[in-house]
Amino acid sequence: MIKMKDIRKTYPNGVQALNGITIDIDLGEFVYLVGQSGAGKSTFIKIIFGDEKATSGDVQVAGHDVVNMKRKEIPYLRRDIGVVFQDFKLLPTMTVYENVAFALEVVEETPKNIRKRVMEVLDQVGLKNKARFIPDELSGGEQQRVAIARAIANYPKLLIADEPTGNLDPDTSWEIMKILEEINAAGTTIIMATHSKEIVNTIKRRVIAIEGGMIVRDQHRGDYGYES
Ligand code: ADP
Ligand code: ADP
Repeated sequence: MIKMKDIRKTYPNGVQALNGITIDIDLGEFVYLVGQSGAGKSTFIKIIFGDEKATSGDVQVAGHDVVNMKRKEIPYLRRDIGVVFQDFKLLPTMTVYENVAFALEVVEETPKNIRKRVMEVLDQVGLKNKARFIPDELSGGEQQRVAIARAIANYPKLLIADEPTGNLDPDTSWEIMKILEEINAAGTTIIMATHSKEIVNTIKRRVIAIEGGMIVRDQHRGDYGYES
């Protein structure tokens, strides 16, 4: 799914965010990305979904050559990747239904297929009965479930979650993890950046730790490894 070779990223201000990352992630894996703030996790994630360009190195994501990709090819990469963020990033004036449908309209699905698929994914995250609500009328956990529904609507092979439970209380966080585990069980590869020791140490998965822009640990069924 992801083949990364000696990826380096220097931002225009001179900060070296990634200093030679080499990693393979296979189809169907569930990977936690851990590390202190400023370690390079978000930069790693942004390079995978084409939001930042690597300075050097090689990355293949779902068959796309992300480093040499032209800007106009990014939409094709994004069709294969769903992304969810800590702050949900829902469109505030659109309903739940419209937020999800929007992700399908941009890939030119037919109206009939869009209706069917939107209700299907809302059902999958337990929000079919809130399709007409706007984000402000939902709890944080519900908003994150909408964001997940939107991210998986196109059947992505890869789902990236950047601290998806960062703004949620513990009970709600476990609900979100249950949904992510179901999505992974159905075959979608998941990469999740997290600061949750409880989650990483309870739901055991591969753990990749980044420090100073380098991978310092890569463990099968690993531990969180930090105090908090
Ligand atoms: P993390 O997600 O682990 O907190 P980041 O990838 O956000 O780490 O940041 C890695 C380093 O790159 C930090 O030193 C951060 O300040 C810097 N950085 C992140 N984004 C930018 C940017 N757009 N411009 C300049 N420096 C950045
Ligand atoms: P920017 O140009 O500001 O970095 P993007 O074009 O990356 O913004 O993303 C715009 C919005 O689309 C974001 O709010 C994000 O939530 C959403 N988005 C982008 N890519 C994806 C994706 N692959 N899956 C789901 N949502 C996405």
